[in-house]
Amino acid sequence: MRQHERAALERLTRFGGAPLVTELVTLFLEDLPGRIARARAAALAGDASALGAAAHAIRSSSAQLGAANLAAACDAVEKAAEKCDMESAASSVADVEAEARSLTDWLATYVGLDPVVADRLGDTSVATDVERARIAVVEDNADNRLLIDAILGESYVLDEYATGVDALEGMAACRPDLVLLDVSLPGMDGLDVLARMRADPDLRRVPVVAVTAHAMVGDRERYLTAGFDGYVPKPIVDERRLMDLVEGLLRGGTERARVAAPSGPSDTDARP
Ligand code: MN
Repeated sequence: MRQHERAALERLTRFGGAPLVTELVTLFLEDLPGRIARARAAALAGDASALGAAAHAIRSSSAQLGAANLAAACDAVEKAAEKCDMESAASSVADVEAEARSLTDWLATYVGLDPVVADRLGDTSVATDVERARIAVVEDNADNRLLIDAILGESYVLDEYATGVDALEGMAACRPDLVLLDVSLPGMDGLDVLARMRADPDLRRVPVVAVTAHAMVGDRERYLTAGFDGYVPKPIVDERRLMDLVEGLLRGGTERARVAAPSGPSDTDARP
């Protein structure tokens, strides 16, 4: 496993010593999420030449670390982008992301980086400064979509969906960084949408916030137990709270302790 990488790092160690290797690996891991975000943004925008350039940058930067699998995945992206085959380019970007995650873990262990630091460096699923985070708003009521747009539209890219079926289809093509999910939707309800997301390797780690008018005692626990990462009761009256919740989840991944619910008997304790 990882014999290319191992050989490259051993060569670098003979050449410049362990500190050089640690420095190169750290630099690489610092830059990687931004580079991947650029590739993903280009793929989403259907910009073949920007995508080719982004993949090329990742391949070049990984070459000295002997990252053969990552180079191969980048090469596939470049070739598809060259042919303007955006569909296979996008699926190769997913391969690049998966390999980048696995390589990040391996490199961090190899040079003995603090796993928390390495995780943050390598987590390309959180928003970076390169692009605004993308939030899917799944809500059948146009007024509520409008309200959410008014609160979050300036800070985030919003993809709005009126049904669960549309949302699943849209999110498969364009993965969001976070989802605000109405629980009562016509046809497939929010719990079904959540279950399908959690069963999908591409969407499994995306934080999902339940947005629901069923604001009753015990609801918050029920939704968090169902696997939601947060809970917002409708009507949304406290916009600051919604913004804080979204920001916290985007920053911290799936931290279920952060909830925007009015305080009440059932809302005082965070889920352990
Ligand atoms: Mn609804």
